[in-house]
Amino acid sequence: MQRIYLDHHATTPADPAVVEAMAPYWTRAFGNASSAHLYGWEAMEAVERAQEQVATLIGCRTKEVIFTSGATEADNLALRGVAERYVERGRHFVSTTIEHPAVLDTLQDLQRHGAEYTLVEVDASGVVDPGAVIAALRPDTVLCSVMWANNEIGTIQPIPEIAAACRERGVIFHSDAVQAVGHLELDATSLDLLSLTAHKFYGPKGVGALMVRRGNPRVHLEPLFHGGGQQKGLRPGTLPVPLIVGLGAACELAMGRLAENAKHVASLRDHLLTRLQDEIDDLSLNGDRDRRLPGNANLCIPGVEAEALLLELREVAASAGSACSASDHLPSHVLRAIGLSNEDAHASIRFGVGKDNTRAEIDEVCDRVVESVRKLRSFSRPPASSN
Ligand code: PLP
Repeated sequence: MQRIYLDHHATTPADPAVVEAMAPYWTRAFGNASSAHLYGWEAMEAVERAQEQVATLIGCRTKEVIFTSGATEADNLALRGVAERYVERGRHFVSTTIEHPAVLDTLQDLQRHGAEYTLVEVDASGVVDPGAVIAALRPDTVLCSVMWANNEIGTIQPIPEIAAACRERGVIFHSDAVQAVGHLELDATSLDLLSLTAHKFYGPKGVGALMVRRGNPRVHLEPLFHGGGQQKGLRPGTLPVPLIVGLGAACELAMGRLAENAKHVASLRDHLLTRLQDEIDDLSLNGDRDRRLPGNANLCIPGVEAEALLLELREVAASAGSACSASDHLPSHVLRAIGLSNEDAHASIRFGVGKDNTRAEIDEVCDRVVESVRKLRSFSRPPASSN
């Protein structure tokens, strides 16, 4: 059997068009974008083009795009940058219980250094109530951070409402939009800070961006690093031009095919869900059915350990928990936050469908899952009584 990749929330393959766009910038057009000669200008032109491509996709101004090594860095720059810069204004942060560790662990670290934070709970469908977020804001709240779409259960948060409420109250609003960018139509106009990363939408690994609002109100950040003055000193260091070109190309590609890709992955995801729900007893979907990423199906199969199921599935790549927390064997904080027991959280498996998956692959995966679940349940369940 051929390998089938259904773990597109963890990462995606770079699109061949992206790799092709990057190619000249490793060898022929290898200049340092800060150099004042032809090679440097050529590199800087490519960087500026990529800024435009990112800005067009998310709806911001070119100058507001700051390149980073990915979203972990972008989230850190947003939260730490605000914490340091606005310390006189306040030291309180608001976020949610289902954020990625790039936000949650950063908040914990800021707390060790004197900050405070409130995590707002989500409901059983994995969606946060904007009213609850607003209620958590305090006069000393400097920043509110809510992810656009969750990386485990795919639920989409009411970002425009929360962003508008924060702006009204003078609170800086950040969204980790890693799982949404390139997959959903989104408009960053009402946001102050937005994180994204290329490898979640068919771009290269190791490059992302933080959108930093420069209009009115303008957001100021303390940099994480000090060194050369690149990117206005906000993120100094020699620019990784080939990676940045790859990020830009991935944005352009996503832009042209957003609706088409979303339709394709949603129809495959729905097919997977329908078949598995029909063929496996007690199977349920974690998170809201409709307010979710088109390719996401996070399924709870009671009595079946997701780790054991993954071992049985072998050639099928899916995930028990997120890639980031899968190694620590703790029940997912996201699944616990929507009310699952530890047992059901360990019995949950995430499928992430991508643009290049086919219906035949999904059917093959369904066959394998059904067969494996039957086998695992036959080991774990007592034999039915004979009368
Ligand atoms: N935020 C979310 C929601 C993610 O899913 C991820 C990646 O798993 C990250 C942040 C971290 O992104 P990166 O791999 O670019 O550091």
